Amino acid sequence: MNKLYDMIVIGAGSGGIAAARRASEYGARCVVIENKKLGGTCVNVGCVPKKVMWTTSRIAETLEDAPDYGFLIDNRGFEWAKIKHARDEYIARLNKIYANNLDKSNAETVLGTARIVSPDSVEVNGTIYNAPHLLIATGGRPTVPDIPGSELAITSDGFFEMEDLPRKVVINGAGYIATEFAGMLHGLGSEVVMVLRKDQLLRGFDSSMTYVVMSEMRRSGINFLTNTSISSLNKSASGITVELNDGTSIVDVDKFIFAIGRRPNSQGLGLENTDVQLDARGNIETDKFQNTAQQGIYAVGDVTGRAALTPVAIAAGRKLSDRLFGDKTDAHLDYEKIPSVIFSHPPIGTVGLSEQAARAQYGDDIKVYVSEFQNMYYQITSRNSPTLMKLITVGTEEIVVGCHVVGDFADEIIQGFSVAVKMGARKQDFDNTVAIHPTSSEEFVTMR
Ligand code: FAD
Ligand code: NDP
Repeated sequence: MNKLYDMIVIGAGSGGIAAARRASEYGARCVVIENKKLGGTCVNVGCVPKKVMWTTSRIAETLEDAPDYGFLIDNRGFEWAKIKHARDEYIARLNKIYANNLDKSNAETVLGTARIVSPDSVEVNGTIYNAPHLLIATGGRPTVPDIPGSELAITSDGFFEMEDLPRKVVINGAGYIATEFAGMLHGLGSEVVMVLRKDQLLRGFDSSMTYVVMSEMRRSGINFLTNTSISSLNKSASGITVELNDGTSIVDVDKFIFAIGRRPNSQGLGLENTDVQLDARGNIETDKFQNTAQQGIYAVGDVTGRAALTPVAIAAGRKLSDRLFGDKTDAHLDYEKIPSVIFSHPPIGTVGLSEQAARAQYGDDIKVYVSEFQNMYYQITSRNSPTLMKLITVGTEEIVVGCHVVGDFADEIIQGFSVAVKMGARKQDFDNTVAIHPTSSEEFVTMR
């Protein structure tokens, strides 16, 4: 049986659903094919359950501080099973909302694995779907290295299946996921060891930000083993033994988590039946309009290997549908100055160039403004945590090309400032804005 549509979308994650719903608003007939759960990585095993767990571990910190604020609390412990259940229920609700939204948009949803059989046709469960436009939004999956005992490890997917708080965890990796998971697990009471192949977390981000996060994580009790790698994992009577390449080992480990990056889901899709090109890492190559090398086939989101963030996949998907079905012939996503947050302890909010990248690009033409302080919140607590803010400007006009903050509320502070940076604001524009007192963010408009 053959079915005809205006656009076939493979993958009901952030990018695929956004593209299909926007296309449907223009009257296009879409079919969205998904082989796991509606919502994709972000909703099921990414941003959403992660943020719930981050919030949970922030509450643990607040409870620790509560007596300093005069509360006579009796903290009788923490039930992992309770928050996991609530989190799973929330995600099940979101899955339903995504299904309803696709229905309301008149986009058809098909559950199954899609395989491209020709540039304009896709096979799912024995049915052939035809369309002049085909969007690949298949996302990615965690990387697991081929080392002895790797089957004993879990990845971020397994993290969200854990039924209990692990007593002792080893996390291998230095990026977003490793940093976020280490902070959350430690905050909730696990003993955490991080194994880094280099000597710092979050390379590529502004080094002042990553220095603060790493120092704070260390200070809170997370153990960092740097410049080392995993040679094998072995099962023992008391858990997992992690062998490192320097000959040492970590024993009695409950959970070992690989968080060393993600691979694009570009295999097994039938791309050999098209002219779609992959780069060396298997990412689907696209131009600025999300076109692949095969006319009529497009790709958005993590499978393209460009800024693997949910709002990026959503924006690229929507722009694509604006262009294909909304007569907006030049619509495309600008990948410059994309803001991002690392939900670490404390969090980092960032937009634009790091100081290192700005110096490499502009040399001595940059000027850097820094403010470091303790948030007022900590003036009456025994626990404390620093805030550091940085603005990087270029030229005599002092255009702000980088804006970074690490500290409480960084996750909420950076979005507004990213509007200003994206608009090309000058330092003087920041200075001309009256501060909101008493807040942390006011430092961004009072820096000298
Ligand atoms: P996905 O959301 O992965 O969707 C792709 C879908 O395609 C999947 O559902 C998959 O099952 C399906 N699929 C694949 N192959 C086929 C096939 N052959 N047939 C049918 N269906 C198929 N980003 C943020 O912006 N903020 C965060 O806080 C954040 N936290 C994260 C935390 C974790 C632990 C992880 C892993 C990621 C996080 N991300 C975050 C990244 C974000 O989840 C991704 O960038 C985003 O989900 C990418 O969307 P996508 O549409 O490209 O792919
Ligand atoms: P990342 O790309 O962020 O980091 C992975 C890091 O692991 C690398 O930077 C590298 O650091 C290290 N690494 C790579 N290979 C190895 C190896 N073989 N052995 C040891 N270490 C290795 O990947 P993540 O998996 O953390 O996250 C994937 C993506 O998902 C992120 O890039 C981000 O786009 C998105 N995400 C976004 C979040 C958010 O917005 N808050 C949260 C979570 C994920 P080094 O080279 O320094 O060793």
